[in-house]
Order: sequence, then structure tokens, then C-alpha cells
Amino acid sequence: MSQAALTMPPLKHLIGNNRRWAEAIQAERPGFFQQLTAQQSPRYLWIGCSDSRVPANEIVDLMPGELFVHRNVANVVVHTDLNCLSVLQYAVDVLKVEHVIVVGHYGCGGVRAAWQAKPLGLVDNWLRHVQDVAERHRELLAQLPDEHAITDRLCELNVIEQVRHVARTTIVQDAWARGQPVTLHGWVYALDNGLVNDLKLAADTQAALEANLRAALARYDAAAPSL
Ligand code: ZN
Repeated sequence: MSQAALTMPPLKHLIGNNRRWAEAIQAERPGFFQQLTAQQSPRYLWIGCSDSRVPANEIVDLMPGELFVHRNVANVVVHTDLNCLSVLQYAVDVLKVEHVIVVGHYGCGGVRAAWQAKPLGLVDNWLRHVQDVAERHRELLAQLPDEHAITDRLCELNVIEQVRHVARTTIVQDAWARGQPVTLHGWVYALDNGLVNDLKLAADTQAALEANLRAALARYDAAAPSL
């Protein structure tokens, strides 16, 4: 890069956007940022996909300070992922969030790549976790008519399995054991209309969650054409 180019502020348009955004919020809610520096007290943890089309705060219309967020490719919760576990532990133990929401989305490139077993590089290893979900529900997916239907269903099944993983962490198990209210949820967001599909998993005990997971899977079996 030339010396002349370095005199221009990098990503000037984004810095400009940021100035206008901050000014608009200050004008609408004077003192907003000063209040946020004092503390954050979000009630929700969002575990979602890194996809740029699925911006957590915007989708549920929440302001900074209201949503704690962890995102990775295909919204996967792996029991040895210290990044995700640390976010979950901090959210539950320190911030005392009341709700943990795993949010997948239809048309997820990570889920589609996992289903197609398309080589993309290092990320293939991460997506093995989604392939495990597909393998676990192979019979259910085999009943579907085409790849579009299969990948949409796999997006839902992936959320169901990741909610199960959240529930099985020591963090949530310990919170439930000491009577701390933490409710787990599973949603799938639709890119084409901006709406969330609630998979009706909401539960604040292990028994309730197991029942809701079974009911969610049973609904798929009931909807499947008889072969
Ligand atoms: Zn995605």
C-alpha cells in the first residue's frame, strides 16, 4: 500500500456510519451510552449463526445492552468449545440471563455444505457436527422430497440438537440444580420474510426439555408421508 493511501482513514464509510448511528441514538435517548458503560444486564443469551443476514439484535428489535450474543458457523454448541462454553457460563453465572435461545436459520450455508459434504477447507471439520445431526436423523430426512426440504429440516434438527447440547452442559445442569431460572429455546429464522419459527422447545427443567424435544421430533414423524 502506498504512503498516500495510508493517509486516508481505512473503512471511512463504516466510521461515518458509526458516527451517524451514535448521534441518532444520543438524540433519541440522551445519556444512553453513559448508562450502558455502568453495567449491562441482558435477560437473553442468543446463540446464532455467523451469517451476515441474521443480525441478532435487529431481528428481535433489542437495543445494545439487552442481548448477550455468541455466533459461529451453523450455530453449533460443542461440549469442548471453550469459546461457546465461556460465553454460556458468563451469561448464566455472572449476568444471570433468564433465557438461552439457539437460533438457526433456513438457507444456512453451513448446514447446506454439511449436507452436501462439499469441501470448503478447515470449516469442514466444524461442520462435521452438523453431519452428525444429519446422521442421527437420517430416516426422518430420507422421507423428504428434495434437497431444499431436507436442508430446511436439517436447520431445524440442528437447532433441536444444539438446544439439547446446551441443556447438557455443566453450566445449565448446575444452574437448574441450584434452582436458578434458565429457560432454553430453539428458533429458526426465515431469511425470506424476517420471521422467527419457534420450535416450541421452551423448557426450564431437564424433564420438560426432554418432553418438548420428543414432541418436536414426533411432529415431524406425524407430518411425514407414509411409505
Ligand atoms: Zn448459517
